[in-house]
Amino acid sequence: MEMKKKMKLPRAHAQGIFSPSFVGSKIPPKQKSLRIHPRTHVRGFLRRGITALIIAIILFVLLYSAFLYVGKLLTPKKVHYHAGFVVFENDKKKDFSDFKYMRIKPCLLDQNQKDSKEDIQAEKAHLHDSVGDVVHIEGENALWRDLFQNIRYKLDYSKAFTFINGSKVKNFENQKIQPYDSIVILIGSNKSNHLQDAVPKNYIEEKAAKSVDCGD
Ligand SMILES: [Zn+2]
Ligand SMILES: [Zn+2]
Repeated sequence: MEMKKKMKLPRAHAQGIFSPSFVGSKIPPKQKSLRIHPRTHVRGFLRRGITALIIAIILFVLLYSAFLYVGKLLTPKKVHYHAGFVVFENDKKKDFSDFKYMRIKPCLLDQNQKDSKEDIQAEKAHLHDSVGDVVHIEGENALWRDLFQNIRYKLDYSKAFTFINGSKVKNFENQKIQPYDSIVILIGSNKSNHLQDAVPKNYIEEKAAKSVDCGD
């Protein structure tokens, strides 16, 4: 191969020397292309490199934000609000202030997702500080049934008459607990609807503010 190249070169030179038209017409374009080619090659290479880098950065940012977004979705949101509840059975108010109804574990879900299923469930709705009529909601999507499930109080929902903030409600157990909701649950036979015994908002606020066991 090398030998063939060497054999060809002198001929081209010879032709160049003896034929000015050849030199004028054919060599300059060759030189031009030789001069420009490396530069455009470098420029093109740089441009391609920069484009690839930008695409890589965009992809990285997109993937990273998707990763953060999914992480956020999976992390239980920090919520904390309160509501009031009373249960009357045959005109007698049920007392939920007993120690057995209280949640004594430290509140607020672990932000590092190390919570057990039980903790996540317990945080949804629970009682503190021997206060038997103010619910602490510290987990997402807490329903009224979560409260009774967590305090282990068996309630026949089909036989309950319920008022939330003074309005009669059907299937209250499946209603989401809203901040400062005040629920009155009647079971058995009651002569009154006991709406006058509903927990008032200022009472909920007062008990929540005083709470010792409850995180902020
Ligand atoms: Zn709590
Ligand atoms: Zn609380």
